[in-house]
Amino acid sequence: MPEVHSAPASIGVLTSGGDAPGMNAAVRAVICTAVYHGIDVYAIHEGYHGLVHGGELIRRMGPADADGILHRGGTAIGTARSQEFRTRDGRRVAARNMLEHGIDALVVIGGDGSLTGADIFRQEWPDLLAELVDSGDISPDVADDHPVLRLAGLVGSIDNDMSGTDMTIGADTALHRIVEAMDALRSTASSHQRTFVVEVMGRHCGYLALMASLATAANWLLIPEKPPAEDWALQMCRDIKAGRDIGRRQSVVLVAEGAQDINGNPITADHIKSTLEKELGEDTRITILGHVQRGGAPSAFDRYLATVLGHAAVERLITADRDAPPQLIGLRGNRVVTTPLMDCVAQTQAIAERINAKDFDGAMLLRGGSFRQSYEILQTIQQAAARPTPAGRRRFRLAIVHSGGPAPGMNNAVRAFVRLGLDRGYTVLAVKNGFRGLRDGDVHEMDWMDVSGWVSDGGAEIGTNRYVPWGALVAQIAEQVAAHRIDGLVMAGGWAGYQAAHELHRQRHQYAALDIPIVCMPMTVNNDVPGTELSIGSDTALNSIVADVDKIRQSAVATRRVFVIEVMGHDCGYLALLSGLASGAERIYLPEEGITLDSLTADLHTLADGFRSGKRLGLIIRGEGADLVYTTGFLKSLFEKEGGTLFDARQAILGHIQEGGDPSPFDRIHATSLTARCIEFLSEQLESGARASAMLGFQSGRLQFTDLTSYPTLIHPEAQRPMEQRWMERRGLSEIMRC
Ligand code: ADP
Repeated sequence: MPEVHSAPASIGVLTSGGDAPGMNAAVRAVICTAVYHGIDVYAIHEGYHGLVHGGELIRRMGPADADGILHRGGTAIGTARSQEFRTRDGRRVAARNMLEHGIDALVVIGGDGSLTGADIFRQEWPDLLAELVDSGDISPDVADDHPVLRLAGLVGSIDNDMSGTDMTIGADTALHRIVEAMDALRSTASSHQRTFVVEVMGRHCGYLALMASLATAANWLLIPEKPPAEDWALQMCRDIKAGRDIGRRQSVVLVAEGAQDINGNPITADHIKSTLEKELGEDTRITILGHVQRGGAPSAFDRYLATVLGHAAVERLITADRDAPPQLIGLRGNRVVTTPLMDCVAQTQAIAERINAKDFDGAMLLRGGSFRQSYEILQTIQQAAARPTPAGRRRFRLAIVHSGGPAPGMNNAVRAFVRLGLDRGYTVLAVKNGFRGLRDGDVHEMDWMDVSGWVSDGGAEIGTNRYVPWGALVAQIAEQVAAHRIDGLVMAGGWAGYQAAHELHRQRHQYAALDIPIVCMPMTVNNDVPGTELSIGSDTALNSIVADVDKIRQSAVATRRVFVIEVMGHDCGYLALLSGLASGAERIYLPEEGITLDSLTADLHTLADGFRSGKRLGLIIRGEGADLVYTTGFLKSLFEKEGGTLFDARQAILGHIQEGGDPSPFDRIHATSLTARCIEFLSEQLESGARASAMLGFQSGRLQFTDLTSYPTLIHPEAQRPMEQRWMERRGLSEIMRC
């Protein structure tokens, strides 16, 4: 019986097709994981071209090759398109080149074309080897030693156009580039009362255009999956004019490069511009973002995603049955999932086919629930005013309050709350300055245009603080809730907000006015609240940390230096672990684990060994609550003293920078979509006469509500963090990535 579980002899990794930011992080993860398992790993440069041409293009990789590529955009090992690999002759040569190094397993990072090519290669492998034996290129023993080609696929594509994963490697970075550009355009557009037509990438997939619209204040969207009605030009002009009439100083039409009308005719930026100029006399400019979208340093999420997937791909190659069908390794709701590779390719192509066949409803259906939901939310928020309220609908009065530290995305939540609430015919109230403001009656009715321009700003326009009303002070809040006839409350905030919301909920039997549905929405950079695996604001903070660490890395080129970088999080190590993974830190100290003298000594030895063998930079991330005694200053002094002539040490406490800055695309989008769910929740409760209160959060990739009553049982009794922290599952990964 053949040994079906035996590990591959050597693993090859290649990037193919279009480049995507984050590919380097995936290659690094493949190298580090293979090294960790003691398996030889080769980088195949220039994609399949390198496989066919072999020689210098197939290079053995060691830990040093993984160093310093994580933060780079593009792909350090190159990518190319190869006609030769499309031919059987080319693939036979590729097989021979691989066997020269004993490579019989491949991690292919590319788009659907690259993955299809890889699968064809895998299927042909035994026959190709038989032919190579016949021609005398390889010996029968070599063929016998490598009877199958194992394959794992990762999707590198900025379009996010592949089934089998929530996100493809590169899409989040592209979204960053688009949103940065659109924020910049907005200021110039509003200075001149101009209209901009912005074209973004996406031949068959409107993901980038849709999410960029949700994350900015684009007024009109054109995507391949959802062509506009026949009279779209008229409608577009009417909507842009309505926006002007209510005082919008800028208008943006966002068009995906593959946008078309319902008859399948392309809708181009030129066409849109000439229509707007002719019909409205608008001063219209076109911006085609083009390859800028592919460029630049990968976002924190792309580095994390690629690291997790690259690692999982090697684990899969090692542990799966040798004859198991090849899998696409993806992420769904922060869980690694594997799906038969060719099912993913088929599903992806099915969407393109539906679009080509003008079955647009079918295409939208295949895109999935959150795509459709985002589209619907966008349709409402983009309007110039709320739709007329259907007769008979009750006009509930809903309020929103922040609490806790400022979290990027708070303004997006209020913006969505106001517009989605008004569109339902409700009265929407914003409570200024947290629960202190509620206590003092600082409650304001909001109108559609009151939140105009809030989409890209960090901070919290309506204010936030850490005030928590306890005991008798709750009576004053109850009075104000009654005075303002608040029927339901959204608390969009962090730790203090959860405490406050729970306290109000707990005292509802004492104060009738507090017997209202309350829903908590997780908004804190720390990601330390219960009922969710992810909180809004943390993505912006991670990007801010990672950008700073990149700069620190550059600043240290001329020296041999250890940097101890302190990041936020109170008692929660989420920012520390994730930023450590995304920035390539070699040691991460977490509050969940504390710091011991033994671990410091061991780390010191590891650092010294590294510098002795040529290392120039040591990056250490320390969560601010990691240890009371072994502070960042202490660590810096310790490393400085003990480093002697080998290295010096510096500290960087990133501080409140992490809470500021413009919200990242993810935080803007999540703030908007979670707010929509909060309003739905309150609406359902109020319509049905129920009074449940809840915490909304991401759990196993889905948005779920947890009863607010259970709040005390979900938090750590002594520390400011939840009992369950799923992200801690990635702790082991940070050790493997130290290679
Ligand atoms: P992407 O992977 O981004 O979709 P392409 O479709 O251009 O990019 O594919 C990249 C490379 O993958 C091609 O240049 C070719 O070498 C290989 N490839 C794509 N499709 C096939 C196929 N059907 N058979 C063999 N090789 C293929």
